[in-house]
Amino acid sequence: MEKRVFNFSAGPSMLPVEVIEKVQANLLNYNGSGQSVMEMSHRSAEFIKIIEDAEKNLRKLMNIPDNYKVLFLQGGATLQFSMIPLNLMRNSKKADYIVAGSWGKKAAKEAAKYGDVRVVASSEEDNFTYIPRVDKSEIRQDCDYVHITYNNTIYGTHYNYDADFGDIPVVADMSSCILSEEVDVTKYGVIYAGAQKNVGPAGVTLVIIREDLIGHAPDDVPVYLDYKIHADNDSSYNTPPCFAIYVAGEVFKLLVERGGLKAMNEINVRKADKLYTFIDESRLYECPVVVEDRSLMNVVFITGDEAMDKKFVSEAKAQGLVNLGGHRSIGGMRASIYNAMPEEGVDTLIAFMKKFEEDNL
Ligand SMILES: *Cc1c(COP(=O)(O)O)cnc(C)c1O
Repeated sequence: MEKRVFNFSAGPSMLPVEVIEKVQANLLNYNGSGQSVMEMSHRSAEFIKIIEDAEKNLRKLMNIPDNYKVLFLQGGATLQFSMIPLNLMRNSKKADYIVAGSWGKKAAKEAAKYGDVRVVASSEEDNFTYIPRVDKSEIRQDCDYVHITYNNTIYGTHYNYDADFGDIPVVADMSSCILSEEVDVTKYGVIYAGAQKNVGPAGVTLVIIREDLIGHAPDDVPVYLDYKIHADNDSSYNTPPCFAIYVAGEVFKLLVERGGLKAMNEINVRKADKLYTFIDESRLYECPVVVEDRSLMNVVFITGDEAMDKKFVSEAKAQGLVNLGGHRSIGGMRASIYNAMPEEGVDTLIAFMKKFEEDNL
């Protein structure tokens, strides 16, 4: 393959080509240091600057207040499914989970190992085609936190509003939408995200946590799973995922240069609107997700005929539009159109879909 493809993978996913080129140019000799970031001590002045700049730019992008810590951890969003209950179940050991997809379900299952977990609402019976609306009064008032999945990568749904449960901390898995839009961080106790969807390469997990939620892990918690250790040691208690942090940091810089998350969101809205409008008007394709809860990042669609879906995915691939198959658990199609997917990629996809529809109806 001589040309780069338009990669619609849900994650790991496309990175901005400018970032890959910059990393390539610095691969052997980072900024005149005579070494690659891959070879650098995490205690070196060069790397400390890399991680500090990454944090500074993430804070700027998301307007993160001073009473929140930013942590760069390992273990993916999946390890957060355990770290959250281990650290946050500190009083009643009760936690309420709103389940809008498989990730939320997994998070609740993991948390149930450590305390009293209740699934307040789930859209599973309707194949997760919407986000359950939950009123403050439905939440147990003494619970330690409420967990939500802000964007459901597999099902293509998204909270198009802030979840608000009064003083009870809201913990949000934003793995597949972080940096795609402006978010009011003060509305959340913890925001976490694996980097490999909309941020950078796999290997680093972002955790943004309000300071008062840190320092409550029980004494027997494994040291790596205590937020306090990471907060007190600037994410370098042990060796952090240096290269992944570096590349994520380059993405942050680029987003700052491009005008921040408001500017990114305008482009993301435009890209997603085009695609949904085309799907809704077409005779072949259908989006199963209710209109008000649709995701800007993961656009799910089907033809209603599994064989046709398979044909679509394989013919698209031959045209350089790759990874359009839906998640292995649900099939159909899914176009993940994160920040790094150029608008041209969405236009090319729509043109292909149009042609495929004409040829197959
Ligand atoms: C991908 C994903 C996960 C799992 O992430 P890992 O980093 O692979 O552990 C969890 N939650 C959401 C919303 C995801 O999209």
